[in-house]
Amino acid sequence: MGWSWQIAKVRGIDVKIHATFVFALIWGALIWGGGRPEGWLYGAFLTIVLFAVVLAHEFGHAIAAQRYGIKVQDIVLLPIGGVARLNRMPDKPVQELVVALAGPAVNLVIGLALAPVLLYGIALRMQAGDGIGLPAIAQPGFFNLVAFLVVINLSLLVFNMLPAFPMDGGRVLRALLALKLPYARATNVAAVVGRSLAIGFGVFGLFTGNLGLALVAMFVFFGAGAENQEVTQRESLRGLTVSEVIDNQAPVFAASLPAHTAFERLVRSPYASVAVVDEAGQFKGAVTRRGMQAQWLTGKRGTVDQFVEQVTPVQVECDSTLVAARERMAEAQASVAAVYCGNSFEGLLDFETIGRVIAMRQMGWRDGRGPVASEG
Ligand SMILES: [Zn+2]
Repeated sequence: MGWSWQIAKVRGIDVKIHATFVFALIWGALIWGGGRPEGWLYGAFLTIVLFAVVLAHEFGHAIAAQRYGIKVQDIVLLPIGGVARLNRMPDKPVQELVVALAGPAVNLVIGLALAPVLLYGIALRMQAGDGIGLPAIAQPGFFNLVAFLVVINLSLLVFNMLPAFPMDGGRVLRALLALKLPYARATNVAAVVGRSLAIGFGVFGLFTGNLGLALVAMFVFFGAGAENQEVTQRESLRGLTVSEVIDNQAPVFAASLPAHTAFERLVRSPYASVAVVDEAGQFKGAVTRRGMQAQWLTGKRGTVDQFVEQVTPVQVECDSTLVAARERMAEAQASVAAVYCGNSFEGLLDFETIGRVIAMRQMGWRDGRGPVASEG
């Protein structure tokens, strides 16, 4: 993620903070600072405490994921919260359930551990005759800070357990449904529940003038759609390997081919990307129609191998699954992957091909059986 800085590395996980986090600090200073300059510093301190709790929540997810052998790329703290980026999602519903619950569980444990301290503080104040003696959480003081921690942990717990994507509760609901239903169906149902909830909150927010709530509802509504689409696409790729979908008759360019000839062929060809190979047939890189055009416009000329994309394409094995290959490409933000069977270069896999396969599968295509009627 651009504009973020690493602040720590714990258990092999980079902890990063996004530049926009500074807005959260200012917001916290103003909201909790109570309009007095001397309060601003304490307001900023409370914001840091809040984000430390968010970080603990994300570590809950991350450590649970690591236990299932899932690599955690990093944890990024954004003004709206934290994100633990996992290299892949757990495949088994039970694992997804555990990973989704591990974050809120951290908040539950912190909240429960501090509750007795808070109750003791309240009792002390009542004894001192301070009325009901509820702590003022935005004021400096030991019991006030404990109260603040209890309140934010319980709020995070409740908010994250709302059964709507992209909240943890949405994943918990999907995982529970997936114990009985196929994964895609479970996601559909969970997405409908999440969207209904979001519409409810949105309408409530608008009618009560709570625009913040309406905004969160909108964010949840679109989050549910994105999750649903992602899973539907992934499911339609399931069961296919890379070698089943790449075109081994696709054209290749010899490295010494003049660039203008290559470009003209790309313009006339349906292929958006073409492999460039040397005399020995070794893969040198890929050229894309768009990439070649951009370089051509800067005045670059010569042979086609000079136009090979700077970023080396991701390499995938021909017998790896299409789902895994697509994940690798997305992770590396590469539009093309070079497919190898052992040491021999077999062809290119690009997102155009993957998109075509998804579209054909959704129309009922199953490999080796020709077109079949959709199973609905
Ligand atoms: Zn979470």
